[in-house]
Amino acid sequence: MIDATIPEEEKNTRSRNFIEEIIEEDLRTGVNEGRVHTRFPPEPNGYLHIGHAKSICLNFGLGKKYHGKTNLRFDDTNPVKEDVEYVDSIMEDVKWLGFDWEERLFYASDYFEQLYQYAVILIRKEKAYVCDMSAEEISGTRGTPTRPGQESTYRSRSVEENLDLFSRMRAGEFSDGTRVLRAKIDMASPNMHMRDPVLYRILHAHHHRTGDQWCIYPMYDFAHGQSDSIERITHSICTLEFEVHRPLYDWFIREIGIYAPRQIEFARLNVTYTVMSKRKLLELVREGDVNGWDDPRMPTICGLRRRGFTPESIRNFADTIGVAKRDNVIDVSLLEFCVREDLNKRAGRLMAVLNPVRVVIDNYPDDLVEEMESVNNPEDEFSGKRKLPFSKTLLIEREDFMEDPPNKFFRLAPGREVRLKAAYIIRCESVVKSPESGEITEIHCTYDPQTKSGMPESNRKVKGTLHWVSEKHAVKAEVRLYDRLFTRENPDDPEEGKSYRDYLNPDSLKVITAMIEPAVLTSMDKTGGDDAGISGKYQFERIGYFSVDLDSTPQNLVFNRVVPLRDSWSKIEKVK
Ligand code: ATP
Ligand code: MG
Repeated sequence: MIDATIPEEEKNTRSRNFIEEIIEEDLRTGVNEGRVHTRFPPEPNGYLHIGHAKSICLNFGLGKKYHGKTNLRFDDTNPVKEDVEYVDSIMEDVKWLGFDWEERLFYASDYFEQLYQYAVILIRKEKAYVCDMSAEEISGTRGTPTRPGQESTYRSRSVEENLDLFSRMRAGEFSDGTRVLRAKIDMASPNMHMRDPVLYRILHAHHHRTGDQWCIYPMYDFAHGQSDSIERITHSICTLEFEVHRPLYDWFIREIGIYAPRQIEFARLNVTYTVMSKRKLLELVREGDVNGWDDPRMPTICGLRRRGFTPESIRNFADTIGVAKRDNVIDVSLLEFCVREDLNKRAGRLMAVLNPVRVVIDNYPDDLVEEMESVNNPEDEFSGKRKLPFSKTLLIEREDFMEDPPNKFFRLAPGREVRLKAAYIIRCESVVKSPESGEITEIHCTYDPQTKSGMPESNRKVKGTLHWVSEKHAVKAEVRLYDRLFTRENPDDPEEGKSYRDYLNPDSLKVITAMIEPAVLTSMDKTGGDDAGISGKYQFERIGYFSVDLDSTPQNLVFNRVVPLRDSWSKIEKVK
């Protein structure tokens, strides 16, 4: 049955990546009866990161595009490092990214019996043997790429002896590390992976799914390709470092005599100012450099989610970077661009003041409160309007005022006018300073009642427009300003004598108290939950995109800065 097809609209348009070209060629020539079946095969030994997200989008994306299927399979062959905590988080992350494995959730551990039988086939064919050398002896006799290894003295064991020893390994007669099963290939092969690699090791360890049923476990290399074969995966997509493993995978498939998936390698994703190895991410968590796997500074999917990234922005990022055959590093600002672009279209606007200074409008009536109107999102005509209260005492950003400004400064200064967004034009008359510190405590202004925003006579133009909040109506919120976790573009390539942790950015998190317009309370009630992926996400006008944090409660609002509005960190945008 042919269930996979080349989408009609794709036939002549848009350039395909090299993997799509291979798949389309296979479809045209009728390989695999026109099936396309991919899989995402994580090892549940850590949380997924943005690199995995690339692989998820690629594999599930191809399944979808060619009307094929995509499995989620946990390659859980190493019980010592794996845990259900990771299994659960991986499933959550794949779903959150918007992909569905339907009923096709598998575990390599489901195939342990089958894999064992495959090993027995190899033993019977004299293609595998039990070796009593220690791990050190095995690695000591492997040779180097230019010098052949030495054959194990156990290599000539008879089939009967091997079958007997292997079944006794399984039965638990031997202790960890005393014996292994090895493939009998070629100790002189220029490919080190072909020098009698280990297939099974003895490990008396509890497995998160098979419990204590097994005390021998297949090596990743022996499990991975065969698992793909069992699932009849047509295109096994993996990262470049597995290119050199491919001859070994092909050898297993050929010698065992089973269905052969086609392996295709692509370059793994690297991102500037980021580390992506699971070992390093785990170390950051363990050393307390970050507050857990979902710290918003982490490149993990749960970290990005908590920070306020949307699945759409991550999928768009994965699409934009494409698929490469050579290693490369993607600028982290592209990821930031993708989330900015998405939130610009979809997130509601709010006015929030992060570093407030008081503005008193001397000629405004003491007790008057006017309701001003502002559009929720100028990019979305259906987003509606919200009301915001205006009163005599307001707060603006301290950076939006200068006592002695240069010519090009179009914000507030003595004697100068600015428009308060959605309100009036005001003019600065005088300032009050603290006698002790000299710091400005109040800016006194007058307003021009003829300039109320939206009124026909309000067309008078001034150069600057500022955001503001009414002091007595403003809602306090904790705001966590995140910056890049590392100060070095490539922390994985440290200077001599240093480690990636020497480049941790001491200013990667600043916590401040912001004052936000009161609509923040009602708009949060309205959006609730997180089903649309956009709720709790806002543009604080002129500042950036912010997202309600998990720690937030109606009494104590907490926001994360997703990204600043412009690429330059934490600078208030110059007013047009
Ligand atoms: P490990 O060192 O534990 O094997 P890993 O990052 O390779 O780490 P896996 O769980 O084996 O983790 O990865 C699952 C899938 O995600 C694999 O197919 C792998 O090729 C892919 N993947 C992992 N990291 C990246 C990356 N940076 N870019 C693209 N794909 C990746
Ligand atoms: Mg891996």
